[in-house]
Amino acid sequence: MPELPEIETICRGLAAQLPGRTLAGVRVRQRQLRLPVDVEALQQAVGCRIERVGRRGKYVLVFLQPPRVLIFHLGMSGRLRVGPPQANDARHDHLIFALGADLELRFYDPRRFGLCFLTTPESLPHHPCLRHLGPEPLSEAFSAAYLAERGRGRRCPLKAFLLDATVVAGIGNIYASEILFAARLSPTREAGSLSLPEWERLRAAVQQVLVEAIAHHGTSIADYVDSRGQPGRFQNRLRVYGREGEPCPRDGQSIRRLVQAGRSTYYCPRCQR
Ligand SMILES: [Zn+2]
Repeated sequence: MPELPEIETICRGLAAQLPGRTLAGVRVRQRQLRLPVDVEALQQAVGCRIERVGRRGKYVLVFLQPPRVLIFHLGMSGRLRVGPPQANDARHDHLIFALGADLELRFYDPRRFGLCFLTTPESLPHHPCLRHLGPEPLSEAFSAAYLAERGRGRRCPLKAFLLDATVVAGIGNIYASEILFAARLSPTREAGSLSLPEWERLRAAVQQVLVEAIAHHGTSIADYVDSRGQPGRFQNRLRVYGREGEPCPRDGQSIRRLVQAGRSTYYCPRCQR
């Protein structure tokens, strides 16, 4: 499932290709995504010019003029591909946005956990998908003091705390393991037990890992590719994720795998406390 660095990479690709283009048409081949696509609402995007591309958590935002916002979520397996118009539709090409004679945007999603909505810039912060999201991890609002405040009294494991999108937007299973390793914090610690210096270590680790992953265009483990169909390169730089039994890069201890809330967590039992 794509996380913040993968979505940021996709957004940067789209930002290089889409602004200035006019949405000439929208074709909906399959409206049954995680929530059904409102075909009539989506048609209101036709004739709009694409101004810019943004991101909020794991949501791709395409800002239009007259003022509208196309919101995409890629779910488990969604892709947004920009390229020349295709004569044939692939089986899982659900939405096709015509962008002129030489370009189109396709939303492809075999597992159909993705989402697509059209809204207005004013209602964007109140949109049901976005309104509960915590701060962006690369923003100033995401501070050690903020984390300490949110973590106070919380008995959930630190891993679950990091995956809680109301605490921080965009962090998923792969980066949670990497971040906790970088912060030298155990995934099983109760969130409420961290000291302020430990929260500061966590904040720094979140930002360091995400910035590095974005610089390497995200992680391609399952089927993630960017808007040009290119895979990321951060999978070669994962320190603990998927490395059960391999030596910890810090101290040589065997990396362990643990299942928390049904999902794998990888950590070093020696240097993560
Ligand atoms: Zn270690």
